[in-house]
Amino acid sequence: MKPLSQKMLDMKASSVRKLTKYADEAEKQGKKIYKLNIGQPDLHVPEEYYERIRGFHEPTVEYMPSQGIPQLLEAVESYYKSVGIDVDRNHIYITTGGTEAIMFTLLALTNPGDEFLTFEPYYSNYNTFFTMTGATPVAVTTYVEDGFHVKREAIEAKITDKTKAIFVTNPGNPTGTVLREDEIRMIADVAKEHDLYIICDEVYREMVFGGVNVTSFGYLEDIHDRLIIVDSVSKRYNACGARIGVLISKNDEVLELISKLCQGRLAVSTIEQFGAVGLYSTGFRVIHQIRDEFEKRRDVVFESLKRIPGVFCEKPEGAFYLICKLPVEDANDFLIWMLQEFDDQGETVMAAPADGFYATEGLGRDEIRIAYVLEPEKLVRAIEILGKGLEAYQNR
Ligand SMILES: *Cc1c(COP(=O)(O)O)cnc(C)c1O
Repeated sequence: MKPLSQKMLDMKASSVRKLTKYADEAEKQGKKIYKLNIGQPDLHVPEEYYERIRGFHEPTVEYMPSQGIPQLLEAVESYYKSVGIDVDRNHIYITTGGTEAIMFTLLALTNPGDEFLTFEPYYSNYNTFFTMTGATPVAVTTYVEDGFHVKREAIEAKITDKTKAIFVTNPGNPTGTVLREDEIRMIADVAKEHDLYIICDEVYREMVFGGVNVTSFGYLEDIHDRLIIVDSVSKRYNACGARIGVLISKNDEVLELISKLCQGRLAVSTIEQFGAVGLYSTGFRVIHQIRDEFEKRRDVVFESLKRIPGVFCEKPEGAFYLICKLPVEDANDFLIWMLQEFDDQGETVMAAPADGFYATEGLGRDEIRIAYVLEPEKLVRAIEILGKGLEAYQNR
C-alpha cells in the first residue's frame, strides 16, 4: 500500500491517554483506579440543557446557518455583555467545540513557516492543529517554580520575523495558572509592538479561585483588531459532549475567512445548539457552582499534596488542573508502575505524565498533571495512594 500522510504519522499520541492500556489491564485484574488523567468534569449538566433538547419538535433536522442559530448567537452576545466584554453577534461564530474554533483560527492565520508562540507546558491537542495547518509552534518555557507564570524577556527572546501570533490559554490547562491583569497587558503590549495576533483560549474563563477577578484579553479595547477569542460551553457548563464552541473576533478580514470555513463545513449540530441556548440561560448560577466546587477540590488536592515529601507545586489559581514535580526521575515509568505493580487495598491512581505537554524534548520528565475531577473524599484518598505509591517506588 502507498504510504499514509507523513505529517500525521509523525504526530504524537495524546499524552493523557497514553497509559490507557495499562489501566485497562489493571482493571481487568480487579484494581480500582482513581483517574486523574482526563479533564472531563463529573458534575451534572443543568436541566435547562435537556429541556431545550426535549423541546425540539421540528419535522426535519435542517442545516442551520453556518454562523450559528440566531438564538444562540444572541445568548452568547448577552453572556459577553454580562461579563463586560463588548462584542455583538456579527463578531461571533458558533463552532463544533472550542476545538474547531482553534482549528479555524489557525487555518485562517497560517502561511507556511509561520511561527506561533505558545507557553509550554500547553494543552497537547493544540499540536494536532499545528500539524494539520502547518503552523510552527515555538515554545516559551514556563516553570513549576514560578507557578508557570511567564516573563516578558522570555517571550521577546522567541520572537522572529516569522512570528505570527501569541497563543495563550488563560486560565491554563495543564497548569491551572491564571494570568494577572498586568501579565495580560504585557502580552498585549508585546503583540502590539511586534505586530502579532493574539489567540486566547479562555474556555476556563470564570474558573478562577480565591475571589480574584476574571481576566480576559477581551477587556483590552486597543488590541481588538488583533485578537481571536476561543470559547466553549464544555467546561463552563459541564457539557463537554455537547460540542458547542465559540470563536470571537472583531477583525473583519479574519471573520471573512472564518465565515468561509464555517460555510465549508456547513453547520454545527442543530439540536445541540438549542441545548446550548438552555446552558447560557442559566446565567451565572451554574458557572459559580462549578467554580466553587472546583475551588474546594483544589484546596483538598493542594493540601494533600503538600504533605507528601519531595512533591512540589505552586497553588493552582484556576481551571481544574495542576502540574506537580515528583521525587522520581521518570514520571512515565512511575505512573506505569503505579498501574502494573502497586495497589493499596486494591486501589491505585492514574495521572497524566507531564512531558507530553512540553514541546521541548526532555522537559517535564519528573512532573505529572493532575485533573482534580473527582469528589473531595475521593481526591483525598487518591492523593493518599499517590503518596504511598511514591514511597514504595523509591524503596523498591
Ligand atoms: C477542554 C479544552 C478545550 C475545548 O474543548 P471543546 O470541548 O472542544 O470545547 C479547549 N482548550 C482547552 C485548553 C481545553 O482544556
